[in-house]
Amino acid sequence: MSNNPENIAPWHVNILTLFPEMFPGTLGSALAGKALQQEKWSYATYNIRDFATDRHKTVDDVPYGGGPGMVLKPDVMGDCIAAIPKKQLGRLIYLSPRGKPLTQKIVKKLASTPILTLICGRYEGMDERVLHHYGVEELSIGDFVLSGGEVAAQIVMDACIRLQPGVMGAVDASDEESFENGLLEYPHYTRPNIWEDKAVPEVLLSGHHENIRKWRRDQAERITQEQRPDLWKQYRLNQEQD
Ligand code: SAM
Repeated sequence: MSNNPENIAPWHVNILTLFPEMFPGTLGSALAGKALQQEKWSYATYNIRDFATDRHKTVDDVPYGGGPGMVLKPDVMGDCIAAIPKKQLGRLIYLSPRGKPLTQKIVKKLASTPILTLICGRYEGMDERVLHHYGVEELSIGDFVLSGGEVAAQIVMDACIRLQPGVMGAVDASDEESFENGLLEYPHYTRPNIWEDKAVPEVLLSGHHENIRKWRRDQAERITQEQRPDLWKQYRLNQEQD
């Protein structure tokens, strides 16, 4: 982790949060954790509470117009954003259920953006004026409501980290992965050949590369059609246009 502009990795994330201790969290282990150690990515946390000005360190207040919950104050959030040097701000994103739904296409764009600043909301969210003042983009990880943006930020980061150069190494299977070509991925099998009386599909043992490729494509199409009619419809449309 670094707040020093001289000491950031090729892909860097600033995280604005009330819970900096939640980072790196899951990203400190496995592939992402190793890449962090190797300085293939870096992050800096900014504790929103550090920018509260009263002696109670208040970061939220009741919503104008009434209603349940509390709202993150614009003065506190604004000061927290302003604390990041302009050169180090990059693309400014607020994790929010209202945002554009995250897709692999968006992940690819974010993964090739050198610096992201992710704002993690809490309570009912933050004062709307901050979004407009700083031209903040909103990004959602799905149509459900989390208690805070930290887990959402880690999901976005995880998806981007694995795409950083050298992170997946020889395991780089990205061309055939789900969503890469508009389809979900085909099923996988490994040894033993027979398990619980169930055999691996014969074609996979044939060594016939063209037949294996065709079988995998058929399976990917079948699974997409069954499990994601929305993706299937788009895939067929794209095929018609090609
Ligand atoms: N009142 C908000 C609404 O109805 O849209 C929900 C606020 S939620 C309890 C608190 C914070 O969690 C949000 O400000 C956001 O940062 C984060 N969050 C919740 N669901 C999310 C989602 N689906 N995607 C991204 N961030 C989310």
